[in-house]
Amino acid sequence: MNYALQTRNLIKKFGGFVATNEVNLNVEAGARHALIGPNGAGKTTLINLLTGFLEPTSGQVILKGDDVTQLGQHQRVKRGLARTFQINRLFADLTVLESVIMAVNERLGLGARFWKPVGAYPDAIDEAVKLLEQLRLLDVAHAPTRSLAYGKQRLIEIALALAAKPQVLLLDEPAAGVPTSESRELFESIAALPREVTILLIEHDMDLVFRFADQISVLVNGALLTQGTPEAIANDPKVKEVYLGEAVCG
Ligand code: ADP
Ligand code: MG
Repeated sequence: MNYALQTRNLIKKFGGFVATNEVNLNVEAGARHALIGPNGAGKTTLINLLTGFLEPTSGQVILKGDDVTQLGQHQRVKRGLARTFQINRLFADLTVLESVIMAVNERLGLGARFWKPVGAYPDAIDEAVKLLEQLRLLDVAHAPTRSLAYGKQRLIEIALALAAKPQVLLLDEPAAGVPTSESRELFESIAALPREVTILLIEHDMDLVFRFADQISVLVNGALLTQGTPEAIANDPKVKEVYLGEAVCG
């Protein structure tokens, strides 16, 4: 099996509290993998361990077969692991296209060259336009980032993350704060990303999860309860028990 991202016996303790309990996660290359579980199950903690934002108490994080446990966040990004961050003020003041060009420039090592007009690098412009096309954002390319609806802003954040050319993209509740009327479209755009990008995402809306995912891992009390196809997960009595009548089956 070709795995993009794995953990081995990953443990994270906060004092005496075990937030991540011997997690062995296997995310296949090209997967649309969802991480689900009740509030406080440790989903965000696990993502933070994967990105290097948090250091594990013990265990390993394996990116494309390499142990990256000792690497910092930036080094993991360089090796192809990206996550989204909320649009910062700098980007909010720019147009959508300018924001993505800045992010592409950053990867190309051109940095934020304010003394040159943004877009002075034709290759970066081309790449930014392609990213906007992929995420169906071309129609708002020249709108100020801050003027857009929440759902579109989340997509821009994903475009900014994709500008780093990641092989693995981690999304922690990308639809949080997005009105239901926009979340379906947001997920369709995420699902339509090229399969070269492996996606691991946290989402609590089971409708969205079952529409999107081809693999689901269920985290409970910091430990992986099970992993499987949406069908297997929907029919798993252990999972049903955890969700106590919640609409796991969509
Ligand atoms: P989820 O994202 O699944 O809702 P979290 O990973 O945010 O869960 O949290 C899992 C558990 O770890 C929670 O009980 C939370 O209170 C605890 N926790 C998370 N971060 C910290 C921290 N920095 N210090 C202490 N406890 C934490
Ligand atoms: Mg969380």
